[in-house]
Amino acid sequence: MPRMVKVHWRLSECPSRLTANIRDRLESWRIIYMSLCYNQFTTWNTVLDTSMEPLFWLVDNSARVMGPIMVTMVVLLTTMVVMVFYVCILPHIYYQTDIFWSLVHLIVAHWVLMNIVFNYCMAVFTKPGHPPQSVPEVVSICKKCISPKPPRAHHCTVCNACVLKMDHHCPWLNNCVGFHNHRYFFQFVCFMWFGTVYAGIAGYDVFKQHFFGNKDLIVPAFFFPINMVYHMWNKSQDEEAVNASSETNKMADDDSESDIKATLEDQVLHNAIILQFLLCAGVAIALGLLAAYHARLISQGQTSIEQHINNKERARLKKKNMKFRNPYDFGFWKNWKLFFGLSRGRSFFRHVLFPSRHDPVGNGITWDTCTFKLDHNRLLDLL
Ligand SMILES: [Zn+2]
Ligand SMILES: [Zn+2]
Repeated sequence: MPRMVKVHWRLSECPSRLTANIRDRLESWRIIYMSLCYNQFTTWNTVLDTSMEPLFWLVDNSARVMGPIMVTMVVLLTTMVVMVFYVCILPHIYYQTDIFWSLVHLIVAHWVLMNIVFNYCMAVFTKPGHPPQSVPEVVSICKKCISPKPPRAHHCTVCNACVLKMDHHCPWLNNCVGFHNHRYFFQFVCFMWFGTVYAGIAGYDVFKQHFFGNKDLIVPAFFFPINMVYHMWNKSQDEEAVNASSETNKMADDDSESDIKATLEDQVLHNAIILQFLLCAGVAIALGLLAAYHARLISQGQTSIEQHINNKERARLKKKNMKFRNPYDFGFWKNWKLFFGLSRGRSFFRHVLFPSRHDPVGNGITWDTCTFKLDHNRLLDLL
């Protein structure tokens, strides 16, 4: 005979049982989620890096696409500044001074231009250097290339390759700045800065005449916002004068007539002169700051990437009451000599102030440090 089970219904226990059930289910889902995501190497930095991955992808891809556009912009804008210099500034200097000063300007301008063109072309077309498959000294393995990384080499996500002594990826060069082209990059920045300061100062007189003085030629084209604000202010002044006397009214009519008379060539030239000065002023400020930043890094014997790594390491060691020392810092003068490659009788005057294609010191794979000097002949045998 089957046994009967007596079921007791206790309505009062229902809510607590339901809550326990839901709690159990939630706990099991939490464990499932944890087991799927658990990784003993996962840190908050990894989580942050992973969540930022789409943003990195966007930046890398836009840098890749923008590279050729930005190089074209540099070439076109530099050409425009040079043309304005030849067409407007140099004749103006000649009329204002004499043949001697015109020649001085001609020599200085061409020396700067030669250095800008040379260093820019070299920075764009020189490969920064990539590590070979076998390196005598390995500091880590690149997770992207799955290949050994020598000291000071880093992976560039835009170029998708490891770069020797990588400084940064420059979209204005559409190239990485690394061991073989770091000097060209820095010299380009310096000469371009000098060039923009020079062109700005030399062209200031002409700019002043066009921007503030010669109203006949001021026609709002692509400088619309700048010229418009200036003219609206000027116009209101004119209108006040017009209201004051009918004679001034006649003059305003003359002004509008002469505006129409301004030829297209004059308008283009006028706008180019204003653009040239504003461009030079803006670029001079930006490049001045960039050159100062890189000069400081070079003086300390570090690259932009190493600066971040060294700062972290410095802070970490400070907590342990230890002092960090950059192994590639040989002191101010030696750092600059190494950077410019001034060895084997090379001089600053010939090899820095004038175009020179000399190689940097070393091979970019093995490095002397301030506490350890490598035997390069032995290392070459190993390679
Ligand atoms: Zn790599
Ligand atoms: Zn790159």
